[in-house]
Amino acid sequence: MNYINEMTLEFDSHSINEGFARSAVAAFCVQLNPTLDEITDIKTAVSEAVTNCVVHAYPKKTGKISIWVGLTSARDVDIKISDAGVGISDFEKAREPFFTTKPDEERAGMGFTVMESFMNSVVLRKNGDRGVVVEMRKTLTHKKCVALGGEND
Ligand code: ATP
Ligand code: MG
Repeated sequence: MNYINEMTLEFDSHSINEGFARSAVAAFCVQLNPTLDEITDIKTAVSEAVTNCVVHAYPKKTGKISIWVGLTSARDVDIKISDAGVGISDFEKAREPFFTTKPDEERAGMGFTVMESFMNSVVLRKNGDRGVVVEMRKTLTHKKCVALGGEND
């Protein structure tokens, strides 16, 4: 894949960083002129994936969370969110709606379902021998708004 622009972020798995992460990714994507709905979808998906790293990947101690974003000229936003935490033994099960390993902590088991519904694709991989990589793609489809001074692309 040929990317016209890429960025990487790494931060500690403190829940306060979830807002920073989704805002940083959204700010980077603005150059592709997304609609408000598209930006909201991306922020929600990033928020779910980062929250999973905070809550599930590193339940006992703080670890590192990495986010890579690549943009293509075809207006694809590719996002990889990785941790080096406890990992997931059954990806298929983890993706099932309402499946959670933390029902006692008011988890709904809907994070992956939300990511799937807001993004065009969601792929889960092992991160080497530790942790998880969530790969997501959002293809921006709506034309830039001419009334705001943009060109139709
Ligand atoms: P909700 O997102 O609705 O608060 P949840 O986090 O339990 O609940 P999902 O986000 O769909 O639901 O994740 C399903 C399950 O996958 C989790 O309960 C957890 O067991 C596992 N999981 C998800 N992300 C990770 C991760 N990064 N590392 C380890 N386990 C994970
Ligand atoms: Mg979750």
